Amino acid sequence: MKKDPAMRLQDTLKINEFNSVNPLISDSATFSFPDAPTMSDCFEGKVDNAFLYSRHWNPTNLKFTQSLAAMENTEAAWVTGSGMAAITCAILEICKTGDHIISSMTTYGGTFAFLKNYAPLLGIEVSFVDITNLDQIVRAIRPNTKMIYSESVTNPLLQITDIPALSSLARDNKMQLVIDNTFTPMIINPCELGAHVTVYSMTKFINGKNDCVAGAICGTKEFIDALTDVHTGTAMLLGPVLDPLRASSIHKNLFTLHIRMQKHSENAMFLAKAFEKRGIRSNYPGLPSHPQHELFKQIMNPEFGFGGILAIDLKTKENANKLMVAMQNRDLGYLAVSLGYYKTLFSNSGSSTSSEVPIELQEEMGLSEGLVRFSVGLDQNIEHTWEQIEICLNEIE
Ligand code: PLP
Repeated sequence: MKKDPAMRLQDTLKINEFNSVNPLISDSATFSFPDAPTMSDCFEGKVDNAFLYSRHWNPTNLKFTQSLAAMENTEAAWVTGSGMAAITCAILEICKTGDHIISSMTTYGGTFAFLKNYAPLLGIEVSFVDITNLDQIVRAIRPNTKMIYSESVTNPLLQITDIPALSSLARDNKMQLVIDNTFTPMIINPCELGAHVTVYSMTKFINGKNDCVAGAICGTKEFIDALTDVHTGTAMLLGPVLDPLRASSIHKNLFTLHIRMQKHSENAMFLAKAFEKRGIRSNYPGLPSHPQHELFKQIMNPEFGFGGILAIDLKTKENANKLMVAMQNRDLGYLAVSLGYYKTLFSNSGSSTSSEVPIELQEEMGLSEGLVRFSVGLDQNIEHTWEQIEICLNEIE
């Protein structure tokens, strides 16, 4: 039987030392060696899973990464102090001065700003493309292209990346495909579909509690070993490791992720249909009206639904702002950035998380000024929530 990501994850739940049901926490910054030659072997990378210093590896982080790798079906993983740390380390491990990246034009604003403003300072060129247009991507390939970068479901336009198609293109042209899967853990496993590296902001659904910022990089053992190489590894040398106390708390939350994703998806589907029925343009991969609904069905693990993120278009920023305030006043959620929380969060992407994207470019990519992005929460009675949202809509119309 083929195991789904939740089953693979559960297989990593084992009785630990002293019969503790939770993985033990090791908060040592440094580790001792039985003798000096073993110490030098570890520094030369000759000993697997060696603990020398916590910026490199730590027993608590190792256990956590084994669970993440099981979920993603990758050989290994590494955890970082933020999603941006995971993204920038993965990119800089693969691309050096003189290299070229093809990136989706719609990505999280911080990623876009890194690729547009920061990567060029390091001599790395970036071409932004419509990630749903394969011809445009092919045309953007240059002899020095090292990477295609995208998000499984892009932020905030919810375009779907055709990971299998881009994976073949990447392999044929000796490029690496790096996918940010922050919106769709459990639902999509990018590396199973052919991506080389999957990155996460664990700040979002994976942790699900909004009590910390964290990230993860999943890939082959060779890639994670290179990333953490004591002398040359980007993660080791830039040093954004996740603190083991945090790793331990997020690790525990990971084991409820499958149920949370199912409920986020169920509630988001309900609201997406309800908005659409009311005549409001509703962008959700679970709706047949989504231009890539069929592609999403092909790449998803169906038992976890179509995800918790939904975007509606209220045409003007004024309408968007009025609705968000009305909903917050009725306690239906928070006017806040971020996503993946148990309470609904909403924001006007153009003036918040995508504000790094210049207005002309926002228009070019179809980002309406009235777009409200919802990260739908775990409401027990979504019908009741919708009744309340309708009252807010009636107030603003
Ligand atoms: N990737 C996506 C899709 C995001 O939405 C975000 C943050 O909003 C990030 C990456 C960055 O993650 P972090 O804030 O944990 O650094």
